[in-house]
Amino acid sequence: MGSKDFSLSVFKLLRESGTPVSFHREGTSSEIFIRFSRVESDQMIEIDGVLESAHPGVLVSGTIRSVSHGECARCLDDAFNVITAEVRELFEVDATEESGSYSFDGEVIDLTEMIKDALVLELPLVPLCSPDCPGLCPTCGSSLKEGPCGCDRSPRDERWAVLDELDEAVQRKGE
Ligand SMILES: [Zn+2]
Ligand SMILES: [Zn+2]
Repeated sequence: MGSKDFSLSVFKLLRESGTPVSFHREGTSSEIFIRFSRVESDQMIEIDGVLESAHPGVLVSGTIRSVSHGECARCLDDAFNVITAEVRELFEVDATEESGSYSFDGEVIDLTEMIKDALVLELPLVPLCSPDCPGLCPTCGSSLKEGPCGCDRSPRDERWAVLDELDEAVQRKGE
């Protein structure tokens, strides 16, 4: 679905001059998501770019900025990340699947699909609330961001596990 937020009239550009035209648009879009993160449908998305007539069509280049929202993979809190995407895409009246370009009606370009395609690639696969999030205590499950939970956090060597089991077995026998 298209959005008015990201529509640009290119009628003049194509009719009158070959001079590149810079533009700024901001708005929102739905349906930008992957498994663990997304751009919320009310999250502002900005694009600063340049339109150039490129026979046959219009070349759009620019920078897209927004903020992704997900669940921190370590502590499960909200994770927000600034995401940016550089784009350089051709819009053609007769765009085909093979040409790899976007289509437009010859007068108005709708950037929505291009923006969605570009931002979805920038969504964090493993969102983190902060790069150094300490996560949850594996023992009691409390968030370690709030400070130590009091559990014994000394690293455990798996090689001792078998001996521990033997110990327990010996103790049980002795009871
Ligand atoms: Zn976290
Ligand atoms: Zn704990």
